[in-house]
Amino acid sequence: MSDQKSHKKSALRVNPGVEQPEAINPLLHQKAGKFKKNPLDVKEYFAGIQSGDRTMLSRAITLIESTLPQDKAPAGELVRQCLPLSGKTLRLGVTGVPGVGKSTFIENFGLQLIEKGHKVAVLTIDPSSLRSRGSILGDKTRMEKLGTHEKAFIRPSASAGTLGGVARKTREAMILCEAAGYDIIFVETVGVGQSETAVAQMVDFFLLLMLAGGGDELQGIKRGIMEMADLIVINKADGENKKRADLARREFENALHLYPPLPGGWQPSVLTASALYGDNMQQIWNQIESFVQLTKQNGFFEENRKNQDYGLFEENIHQAIHDHFYGQPEIMKQLETYKNQILNRQISPYEASQKLLDFYFGSFLK
Ligand code: GDP
Repeated sequence: MSDQKSHKKSALRVNPGVEQPEAINPLLHQKAGKFKKNPLDVKEYFAGIQSGDRTMLSRAITLIESTLPQDKAPAGELVRQCLPLSGKTLRLGVTGVPGVGKSTFIENFGLQLIEKGHKVAVLTIDPSSLRSRGSILGDKTRMEKLGTHEKAFIRPSASAGTLGGVARKTREAMILCEAAGYDIIFVETVGVGQSETAVAQMVDFFLLLMLAGGGDELQGIKRGIMEMADLIVINKADGENKKRADLARREFENALHLYPPLPGGWQPSVLTASALYGDNMQQIWNQIESFVQLTKQNGFFEENRKNQDYGLFEENIHQAIHDHFYGQPEIMKQLETYKNQILNRQISPYEASQKLLDFYFGSFLK
């Protein structure tokens, strides 16, 4: 008995396949294939971004986040083309420990800024997403109203690579967003780790959200982060928490006076607010506007951006040299050998590093 016959009445019988009709639009297949193998060219991305098309912006950010070697050149070219269109914008960093109310704040504040006629983009740097175990920021549904608003664009953190790599990609995403007409860019990060420094180095104004009654250690926020803040907001100043928030505000204000003044002549202050009920959002905006006015007048705003650009230039060079060095299989092989020798005390770290560098310079940099 053939196989086919024995399965005739069985539920496991596999029917012969039916020839599928052609797609209604024969070009559709072609397009899908093209998209997979070879995403749009830079011109198409650029046109899409310029027209403010959010889907195109999203796809363009995916391109710059790509680690495929063939995407590197078009991604670089796209950023270069977008650069002249970016700049007349405001970049706001927002940080604070998980649960402090960052997304509630950005949603509420962002919607108010849209009402004032702005277009708002929200980018995130989530250090926890760099490890494979999910992310602090990304796991929940965040900023639902802002997320669906036509004048807003929200992009979660890139999750591959190192913090430095993600920070660089976020900067580039910021440039694309600005070219797409978003004039206020929030860069949000979780206040636990090194990502605050990375964010502070890419924004104009850095806002730290805190809670009242966090204890002496300032709720895990390191002193260094407070020093970077242009404004501290004690959030959840509502209901029974209002009094405690006021007390905390005074404490933080006193603490701030001990810090050296910020470059640019700006004196950071402390406000209380309720992101949930939208209290004091206007005062926060007033502070930001005063900062912009002062620093644009005295030149610090522009100076800061130029320094950030120079910092990026240096960082890119470091990264490229690092990638070239560690991208050589022979180097990796020798690295392993030297590592064993160092751990076994067979060679000093100085001698080992010199030998490997001599080999590297001799082999690759002729
Ligand atoms: P994030 O982790 O910093 O982004 O914090 P979320 O914005 O997700 O807020 C954490 C929780 O605190 C949520 O349940 C919010 O509803 C709540 N929350 C945020 N802001 C306020 C506020 O101003 N007042 C009160 N009472 N609750 C708030």
